[in-house]
Amino acid sequence: MSTGKIGVTSQDLFPIIKKFLYSDHDIFLREIVSNAVDATQKLKTLSSTGEFKGDLGDLKVSVAIDKEAKTITISDNGIGMTQEEIEKYINQIAFSGAEEFMDKYKDQANAIIGHFGLGFYSSFMVSDKVDIISLSHKEGAQAVKWSCEGNPEYTLEEVEKADRGTDIVMHISEDEKEFLEEGRIQDLLNKYCKFLPIEITFGKKKEWKDGKEVVTEEANLINDTTPAWTKKPSDLTEENYKDFYRQLYPMGEEPLFHIHLNVDYPFNLTGILYFPKIKNSVEIQKNKIQLYCNQVFVTDSVEGIVPEFLTLLHGVIDSPDIPLNVSRSYLQSDGNVKKISNHITKKVADSLFDIFKKDREDFENKWDDLRIFVQYGMLSEEKFYDRAKKFMLLKNTDGKYFTTEEYETIVKENQTDKEGNMICLYATNAEEQYTYIDLAKAKGYDVLLMDSQLDNHLINTLEQKTTTTKYVRVDSDVVDKLIQKDEVKASNLTEEQKNDLIPVFNSQLPSEKVNYIVAFESLGAESQPVMITQAEFMRRMKDMAAMNP
Ligand code: ADP
Ligand code: MG
Repeated sequence: MSTGKIGVTSQDLFPIIKKFLYSDHDIFLREIVSNAVDATQKLKTLSSTGEFKGDLGDLKVSVAIDKEAKTITISDNGIGMTQEEIEKYINQIAFSGAEEFMDKYKDQANAIIGHFGLGFYSSFMVSDKVDIISLSHKEGAQAVKWSCEGNPEYTLEEVEKADRGTDIVMHISEDEKEFLEEGRIQDLLNKYCKFLPIEITFGKKKEWKDGKEVVTEEANLINDTTPAWTKKPSDLTEENYKDFYRQLYPMGEEPLFHIHLNVDYPFNLTGILYFPKIKNSVEIQKNKIQLYCNQVFVTDSVEGIVPEFLTLLHGVIDSPDIPLNVSRSYLQSDGNVKKISNHITKKVADSLFDIFKKDREDFENKWDDLRIFVQYGMLSEEKFYDRAKKFMLLKNTDGKYFTTEEYETIVKENQTDKEGNMICLYATNAEEQYTYIDLAKAKGYDVLLMDSQLDNHLINTLEQKTTTTKYVRVDSDVVDKLIQKDEVKASNLTEEQKNDLIPVFNSQLPSEKVNYIVAFESLGAESQPVMITQAEFMRRMKDMAAMNP
């Protein structure tokens, strides 16, 4: 047996690792399993280059709990490590073996998870002692055991090990004994390892039989090694995409449609984003996108990582350029992450435009569900606005859809004021405002239906961007005044009669009656001798205040 001291600044590193580097103790399992997966991927690479001539066998990783010994063991049949390699890769903290390997095998290397050379040491967050028992794949290699109790001293000795690969044995500390519970580990594996590319097993599969849980002979497989996003879109059917959605969100309603992301330049990124069905109901579940790095789960709290409006989407984003081993605040300021976020915005806009071009009818059918995303995106991201204005739809009170450009040609004819501004009339509630809508239509005007939560904001933005188009609510004044073309037909009533009548109407109006205007202009329709309107600017101010309390 030999003993030694772990390299460089490790004396200071241990307490830092334990306390600060990972605020989340859970991730030790992700790190150790990722290393095991890396080890099998490395062996695959060596086999494909001919450097490893042996039999690969079934590459796999297993996780086991021994309650009595108070250990968790992660075993793989990957590349293994010789004594020299342990001294180099393990004892020299922050010297990432993965990085060196990637440099050497840049072109053929299978995706390798590790980046920073600190992942292994996260095992000490939950362990009093960690053993590595490893047999290298190299011919004639001697198995070795490394042991360390979370201080800079370690021991190394020769041992017997029949099979190629590595066992990591974590002696779980008293404070962390929750991790010896099967349920806890099963949950963590489901969270982090569900889509890893190599089979991960944890004990035996359990089944319900006659109301009782029985243990079967079959291994309990944790992961789907080839999740939909890793496949080619041409190999997937609509049903496959829906199945994958159900895999991610078993309780979720069927999604509206998906976007398959597949980028290899200027960075690598794959993923599938889903537009959920939400209609107008405000119940939007945010932060459902799961972020992966080479099929290892990183986080499902993507706020600050993708643009705000995209947090409304569901699905998976996987990029080896999303750093795995660091905190969220780091992620948010990472340059790669910013680029990824911009790219996704562009891709989402392009995909929507594609559907719009290819199948306008389908797009219109989905619009009522889609508009909240599109409007939110347009309001919050300048770049998205510029792309989305090509396919953003306006819906009129007859249920017809127009792009803003198409709509302009409609209003240009008939709905301009004296200054030549185009006046778009809109209603926010087709039922409540039906008299106003009917009157406007009788005049040959078109009325839009703007009843989404964001329409008010959108109207303001649209007006700012196109200075010659004005939006006025159909009940904000007498319709002829809104368009300002014809002379308003005077009422037959005398001033005195009007003054007598106004208090009568006002007494029947809601308490904020100051905002209402009672007008006696006849509108050509004898059945409507009086109109009660609400000035556009007053109403907008009130609506905005109600939206941002
Ligand atoms: P990283 O994975 O970022 O390189 P880690 O601290 O997680 O950093 O691991 C350090 C190194 O230890 C790895 O790069 C690898 O060379 C080696 N290693 C860790 N676990 C295993 C394993 N199960 N099999 C073979 N080598 C391993
Ligand atoms: Mg690692």
